[in-house]
Amino acid sequence: MKYRSTRGGVEGLSFSDAVMMGLATDGGLIVPESIPDLRPSLSQFSSLSYPDLAFQIMQPFADDIDARAFEALVARSYAQFQHAEIAPLVPVGNVHVLELFHGPTLAFKDIALQFLGELFSHILAARGSELNILGATSGDTGSAAIAGVRGKPGIRIFIMFPEGRTSPIQERQMTTVLDDNVYNLSIDGSFDDCQNLLKTVFSDLEFKARFSLGAVNSVNFARVLAQTVYYFWSWTRLGCPEQFDVTVPTGNFGNIFAGFLAKKMGLPLRKLILATNQNDILARFFDSGVYQRGAVGFSNSPAMDIQVASNFERYLYYQLDEDSVACRTFMQDFQNQGRGILLDRSGAFDWFSAGSVSDQETIECLRSTWMDSDYLADPHTAVGLHLASRHLDSNIPMVCLATAHPAKFDAAVAEAVPGVTNSHPTLDRLQGQATRKVEIQDDPETLKDFIRAACQNGH
Ligand SMILES: *Cc1c(COP(=O)(O)O)cnc(C)c1O
Repeated sequence: MKYRSTRGGVEGLSFSDAVMMGLATDGGLIVPESIPDLRPSLSQFSSLSYPDLAFQIMQPFADDIDARAFEALVARSYAQFQHAEIAPLVPVGNVHVLELFHGPTLAFKDIALQFLGELFSHILAARGSELNILGATSGDTGSAAIAGVRGKPGIRIFIMFPEGRTSPIQERQMTTVLDDNVYNLSIDGSFDDCQNLLKTVFSDLEFKARFSLGAVNSVNFARVLAQTVYYFWSWTRLGCPEQFDVTVPTGNFGNIFAGFLAKKMGLPLRKLILATNQNDILARFFDSGVYQRGAVGFSNSPAMDIQVASNFERYLYYQLDEDSVACRTFMQDFQNQGRGILLDRSGAFDWFSAGSVSDQETIECLRSTWMDSDYLADPHTAVGLHLASRHLDSNIPMVCLATAHPAKFDAAVAEAVPGVTNSHPTLDRLQGQATRKVEIQDDPETLKDFIRAACQNGH
C-alpha cells in the first residue's frame, strides 16, 4: 500500500514514511492510494478479539512492516486497557454506547495514541533514528500522547500547555508522569499562544531537521486507521446486523472520518450522525455545502471547541473524486476567504446527518440519561446521545461513541446530576503524587534552547 497527499504534491510513500511524515510536506493530508475492500472477510470478524480484529483490519495498510512484528505491536497497543473487551458495547435506553475510554488516560484518544507510540518505537528502532515530539494541548491529547510514548527509547516528548488553563485533573494526568523522556512545559500564555509557539518552532526547518521534530496531532494517518477498527468492532458486538447507524461527537472530524473510511472499506454502516457542540462549522457544512469559519466559543464539551476541523480535508478529497487540484483549490479558498463551497453534493455527502447541540441540551441529556437509564455519560458523549435521540429508526440499531469517562469532566456532570458519585480509581490515584513541570516563557527561542539542552543531556 502506498500513500499520497490530498493536494497532489507527495506520492509513493510507504506506510512507515507516511506515519513519520504526519502532515504532508505540501500542506495536505496523507491518504492511502487505494482502499482495501474488506467485504470478503467480514464474516470472519465476529469471533475475533479486539486486538486480533485490529490486526486484520490494519495489516493491509501497513504491508511494509513484517506481519508478525505488526501483530505483536498491535497487541501491545491494547495491553494497557482496563476492560477485557477493550471497548465494551453497553445498552443504554434505545441505543448502544460504545465505551472508548478504558485506556490509560480515560479518553478515546488512547485507542490511537497507544498504537502510534508502539508504531513510532518500531519504526525508529528499525531505522536507528530518534524522534522529538513537540505538541500543544488544551486537554486530552497531551496526556494520551505522553502515555503512548513514556519510557520508550529513542523518543522524547515535549508537551506545552497554558499555565492554569487546563483542568486540574488534566494537568495532573500529564505532570505525574516522571519518565526521563517526558517534558511537561507550562507556558505563561493561552492555548493559542502554545499553538503559535508550536508553529513557529516547526517552521524553522533547519531546527526541525536537526532535532528530528515530529507531531502527534490528529492528522497522522495512523491515528485515523486505528480508529476505523472500533466501527467494525461495534458491528460485531451488535451481532453483525445488515445495517446500523453510528453517532459520533466530533470536533476535528478525526473520529467521524474513521467511520467514513470504515464504510468505504465495506462495513455495512448506513448513516454517520455527526454531533457538534455550539462550534457548528461541520453541522453547517452538511446542511448547506458551505464550509465557513466562525468564532470559537467555549462550551461544556471543551475537546470539541474547534472551528477548523483538521481532518475535514480527507473527506473533501474523496467527495471531490480524489481530484487533488480541486481539493487544493477548495482549501486555498477557505484559507484566503474563510470559506469554501462544495458544488456537487451527490454521493457520500448523504452518508452524513449532522446537528449542533447546545450546552443546555447537553446538560439535560446527561441528566435524563442518568434518570431514565442509570447511565452516567461525560458531556462529549452526551452531545452525541442528544443528537442520536433525534435520528432513531426503530428498525436499525444505533451505536453512540462514548469518548471520555465522566470523571474527567466532573464540572458538567455535577451541574447535571448534583451530588452523584463520579470518580475513577486511575484519577483518584493521581491525588498527592509527585509532579514535574517546567515553566517556560512564551518565546520560541527559549523553547528551542530548552529542547536543545534536553537533547544534549543525553536522555
Ligand atoms: C478529542 C476528543 C473529541 C473529538 O475528537 P475528534 O477527533 O476531534 O473528532 C471528542 N471527545 C473527547 C473526550 C475528546 O478528547
